[in-house]
Amino acid sequence: MSVGNPTQVEWIAWRGTALDDAGEEPDAAADPADQAGRVLLLVESGGNRNHLAGHLQGRHHIISPRGGRLPNEPFDLVVVDAAGFRRWHRQLVDAKLRDQPTFLPVILIASRRDLRRRLKLFWDTIDEFILTPIEPGEFMERVEMLFRARRLALKQRARLAYVVNHDRLSGLPNLNLFMDRLTSTIMDASVLNKPLYATVVHVPLAHVLASLGHREFDRAAAVCASRIRKLLGPGVPLAQLGSEKWGVIHPVGMQMDGVLEVCGRIQNLAGESIRIDGERIRVSPRIGVGAYPQDASDAAGVLDCAISALAAAGDAGPMFYSKSDQDKALRFIRTESRLHEALKQEQFELWYQPQLCLEDRKIVAVEALVRWRLPDGQLVPPLDFMEVAETTGLICDIDRWVLREACAAVKRWREQGVGIERVAVNVSAEDVCAADFADVIEATLDEFRIPAAALELELTETALFEISGDSLDKLNRLRKRGIDIAVDDFGTGYSSLRYLHQLPVTSLKIDKAFVKNVDSNETNAAILRTIALLAQNFGLGTVAEGIEAKEEAAYLASLNVSVGQGYLYAKPMPEADLLKWLKSR
Ligand code: C2E
Ligand code: CA
Ligand code: CA
Repeated sequence: MSVGNPTQVEWIAWRGTALDDAGEEPDAAADPADQAGRVLLLVESGGNRNHLAGHLQGRHHIISPRGGRLPNEPFDLVVVDAAGFRRWHRQLVDAKLRDQPTFLPVILIASRRDLRRRLKLFWDTIDEFILTPIEPGEFMERVEMLFRARRLALKQRARLAYVVNHDRLSGLPNLNLFMDRLTSTIMDASVLNKPLYATVVHVPLAHVLASLGHREFDRAAAVCASRIRKLLGPGVPLAQLGSEKWGVIHPVGMQMDGVLEVCGRIQNLAGESIRIDGERIRVSPRIGVGAYPQDASDAAGVLDCAISALAAAGDAGPMFYSKSDQDKALRFIRTESRLHEALKQEQFELWYQPQLCLEDRKIVAVEALVRWRLPDGQLVPPLDFMEVAETTGLICDIDRWVLREACAAVKRWREQGVGIERVAVNVSAEDVCAADFADVIEATLDEFRIPAAALELELTETALFEISGDSLDKLNRLRKRGIDIAVDDFGTGYSSLRYLHQLPVTSLKIDKAFVKNVDSNETNAAILRTIALLAQNFGLGTVAEGIEAKEEAAYLASLNVSVGQGYLYAKPMPEADLLKWLKSR
């Protein structure tokens, strides 16, 4: 088979090959002997068509043209008679060309008279002919022979596509396939109007080449490839872009935190040296990231940006092409490393914000809100580190610390009779996923000897939406024990009625966005009325957060929203201030 024509190779290259089909070479030995084929029947003579269809049926799929066009679905063999040939000749030639370099066989059904006439002109489109009257046994034998040739051609094409698309040494998809996938992923990103990141990894191995020669260089590169593959895990497709360069296309819409997490895994390559020819070789990857659309609008441009970012990258972390992305990434990486220290050195504080009964203004609970105090005394609000804490899993440790602190506090308050009987803590989706989530909460209640009713968990709608299976069992267990569960930020997520009915939820916490100016903003008022009605119908309590004005509180009370929280009453504050505030009321 000739692969001389570059446009043909390019075309074969992409057909039916996925970027994540790493290393699986098509099996050349396997011969699926009797597979059904798809036969395009272009026989215009009704008698012959019925006759042939009768023989083919049951063994092969028969495909017919629709209207004046050949069908879109693929076919493996064409059976055509003289009239059909005159009608479809042009389109058949096109179909054959499109399938090149794969053999697409055409059988002509013809009388001796047909053969002598004009048909000779089209001879090179025909691969086999059958004379009428048709002898069924002979016809079927020729069909099977041609199918065999077709299957062989398809197998060769798959093999060729594999060779064209994969790296010879690592078996990973190569630059060809990477660029093709990047092009099509950018098209998806463009349709969805979402960003797309591509990462290039370079592991400098020139010193191996210089000292140990090209064979050991190849081995070192192959070891790097398989280590990166392992570090990334099965969900992330990896391509080999050059002898010491690899590429990853991140899913459309993945945000920078996700990209950083993947890059962090690649960075771990440096953790262990590799052994080549008895020598220990240290490998330190450098990582560059380019983004669509902010860096470039096409695949070649995004790749160029990633490569040029690479030039500036050190071993500390990935380098983004755009300055603002790079600043953001640095902030993320620094926050992550500082958060580890913060946990060890107990730099967190717990602040409390009162929740009041809107009718009589009595305190029903406080919400515990975490604060991070930097060594220089500055306070970091949770929104500045929550994203990092959640993506890196550190949130679980933070929330466990919060839970203990909050339970200890409520125990103190109950003993001192200060009038706070309940505390609400925020819970992330990551917390609920932990196998011992329910155990830890129950053990903490037991340890501080406080009743379950003293604790409320706040889960955002988004977190609740992801809950099923084991996590649902854990929540049910906690609810059975008597712990209340509130839906935080209600109305900002999916607001699906499914979870209100299936999950063990006890109250809705109306997001502050809807409370704002509710007395004058008709849309917010309508939303609030709806939520209040929903809560009533589902038998759920309601808490409104972010109440800043008396008018807002009055409107909420008129809707029978029972509990309110907001700057109108008190801001979140440390325990000492909370106790002072209580005394001063
Ligand atoms: P959230 O749970 O919705 O908490 C309410 C946020 O609204 C708090 O911000 C609170 O200070 C603020 N707020 C309260 N009243 C008013 C008001 O009248 N007006 C305005 N404009 N804002 C008000 P904060 O403390 O910065 O917390 C932000 C978010 O961080 C929380 O939102 C919560 O999702 C998360 N968070 C805080 N502490 C924790 C924690 O310990 N664990 C977890 N997983 N998340 C936490
Ligand atoms: Ca909350
Ligand atoms: Ca909220």
